[in-house]
Amino acid sequence: MATSFQGTTTKCTACDKTVYLVDKLTADNRVYHKACFRCHHCKGTLKLANYNSFEGVLYCRPHFDQLFKRTGSLDKSFEGTPKVVKPEKSVENEG
Ligand SMILES: [Zn+2]
Ligand SMILES: [Zn+2]
Repeated sequence: MATSFQGTTTKCTACDKTVYLVDKLTADNRVYHKACFRCHHCKGTLKLANYNSFEGVLYCRPHFDQLFKRTGSLDKSFEGTPKVVKPEKSVENEG
C-alpha cells in the first residue's frame, strides 16, 4: 500500500486529516474541510462571513459571543468545572 501525494499535504485544523483541494477552506490562515467549518458548540455550519475562531476552534457568532465576550473570561464561561486552566507562562504585566 504505497500511496504518494504530490506537493504538500494539508491537514485540517479541526480533525487533523488531510484536506484535498476540492474540500479545502482557508480561514484565519488555517485550513479546514468545508464539512469541518462549523461551530464547535452547536455544530452549525459556518460561513467565512460570519465565523469566529479561538485558537483554531470555530464558533458561530452567537456562541462565540456567549462563550467569550459576555463573560470576558474563558474560565467563567464553563460553569461547574472547578479546575482552573492557566497558561504555562505567567503574565504579570498588568495588575
Ligand atoms: Zn476536517
Ligand atoms: Zn454555535
